[in-house]
Amino acid sequence: MLAMNYRGPFRVRADHKPYPELLHPSDAIVRVTRSCICGSDLHLYHGLVPDTRVGMTFGHEFIGVVEEIGSSVEKLKVGDNVIVPFNVACGNCTFCKQGLFGNCHESNPQATAVGGIFGYSHTAGGYDGGQAEFVRVPYADVGPTVIPDWMDHDDAVLLTDVVPTGYQAAEMGGIKKGDTVVVFGAGPVGILAAKCAWLFGAGRVIVIDHLEYRLDFVRNYAQCEAYNFRSMEDPVLFIKKTTDWFGADVCIDAVGGDAAGSALQTITGRKLMLQAGSATALHWAINSVKKGGIVSIVGVYGPTDNLVPIGNVVNKGITIRANQASVKRLLPRLIDHIQAGRLNPKGIITHRVPLEEVSDAYHIFSAKRDNCIKPVLIP
Ligand code: NAD
Ligand code: ZN
Repeated sequence: MLAMNYRGPFRVRADHKPYPELLHPSDAIVRVTRSCICGSDLHLYHGLVPDTRVGMTFGHEFIGVVEEIGSSVEKLKVGDNVIVPFNVACGNCTFCKQGLFGNCHESNPQATAVGGIFGYSHTAGGYDGGQAEFVRVPYADVGPTVIPDWMDHDDAVLLTDVVPTGYQAAEMGGIKKGDTVVVFGAGPVGILAAKCAWLFGAGRVIVIDHLEYRLDFVRNYAQCEAYNFRSMEDPVLFIKKTTDWFGADVCIDAVGGDAAGSALQTITGRKLMLQAGSATALHWAINSVKKGGIVSIVGVYGPTDNLVPIGNVVNKGITIRANQASVKRLLPRLIDHIQAGRLNPKGIITHRVPLEEVSDAYHIFSAKRDNCIKPVLIP
């Protein structure tokens, strides 16, 4: 079968790989019909995630048709169209039982932190992902959810990750009616976090990025304010000024740590050292949230140690909440929001690329070329 194949930093290609096998009675094999590239894949692509092995297939945002099921699978049947959450979760461990599907113990028992994730290096369990024609899906009775008949499959594929992640970013922010919410990052995650912030009652939503086409997009899509940090002397000062010097009630980090944050290097007047492990957006979030406010982090940090202004966390009495999204927990309410027309995820898809051209798709998304917001690979 055809599958994305990681060859090293900035090098991926489509290759023929063996068809996946059922390894456990609770597995299913899914024939992939759509598979997105995520900002999280870029951390792998940029070589920032430890133990990313050559030969791995990435892809944690996919939907498809159940092709085979193991002998113990009861909730799925061959031919079902399914949304497959990015978390590989057993459904039975102490964390899954609390709804923390992103922190499943069983799917990645040796990890220091994260649970299992499809196509996300051996630090996330070493599972091959869905940027492929077929993929093995462990614990098939737990994560996969049958796509409702009425749902557009472009909406469905975004329910595997970025919609739940944007929603959880807003939820972790504890947004109260009338709150001012600042979202750092206007990628798919930040855009959806901004959109979801309104669902929690925000009174003002501000998005910060430096890519004009994304700022334009989010202004329209999420009906919020959006500003370019390159045109500011200091983003923290900007936010303080626009909130009567109080700071934002809630700040969301939808950027994460990445060499891509090196955009900052060109900011005049600020000489923050940038290196792997730097956390520019998180700096800004901590420093521009009000005293006693909440910083919600969904941005992914590849290296486990990152540079954070912890003194200001203490002195301002800030609450920090962070996690991988718990997709399965959120699916029912997100499906409701889509059906009721309150969320329109598919509006963020800008590129549709045949799997054969996976290398181009990564390049375009990584370089933020061609006004790319969300690319979908079609096997
Ligand atoms: P993306 O790369 O498309 O978007 C990131 C955006 O951040 C870009 O538009 C970039 O210009 C902007 N940016 C860079 N530095 C910035 C700064 N200092 N301030 C403000 N904006 C800045 O990625 P995405 O798909 O939107 O994902 C965003 C983050 O969310 C990534 O770190 C990704 O790994 C993470 N993520 C987390 C989860 C989760 O479950 N926690 C799920 C999906 C994605
Ligand atoms: Zn993702």
